[in-house]
Amino acid sequence: MTAVSLVQGDITRQSVDAIVNAANSSLLGGGGVDGAIHRHGGPEILDACRALRASHYGKGLAVGQAVATTAGRLDARWVIHTVGPVWSVEEDRSARLASCYRESLRVADELGAATVAFPAVSTGVYGWPLDDGARIALETVRDADTAVAEVRFVLFDETAYAAFAGRLHG
Ligand code: ADP
Repeated sequence: MTAVSLVQGDITRQSVDAIVNAANSSLLGGGGVDGAIHRHGGPEILDACRALRASHYGKGLAVGQAVATTAGRLDARWVIHTVGPVWSVEEDRSARLASCYRESLRVADELGAATVAFPAVSTGVYGWPLDDGARIALETVRDADTAVAEVRFVLFDETAYAAFAGRLHG
């Protein structure tokens, strides 16, 4: 059984085996969680991302996929980068958002990570409504077939925390 916990705070301050990054397809850094992870984790993470771009991920990482690198100076062994879909009113991209959580857990299993911290993927710059993002995150993790012992959602502000808490406890 995977235990699901919620904390309000900064994902870069967590002590876990793997920290999930809401990256973009380029893998070369961005704003939000991505910026914070590279800032606090140091240049080793970007070096590892560049190496991925130079090898198997020449075109970058596709939406809904996940790949691991070192966690640099973060208090974790790995960063698992995943690319969330941009919110769209015309098209239902929920399956791709669910895939981010599922694929990140699959990579975590491959690595042998027992504790994994997730941000609320796609709910920042990519514009996904928080309540729906929380629903997809929690349902996907609950239904995932994984050996990960703890999934910790790290929500940056009170509104995000409340969206997840309402779904988990309500
Ligand atoms: P995306 O491009 O996938 O939307 P963002 O990084 O813009 O990714 O935002 C995803 C979520 O992460 C948002 O809810 C945002 O408020 C939150 N966030 C931003 N910085 C941090 C951080 N340091 N720790 C945890 N969550 C963060």
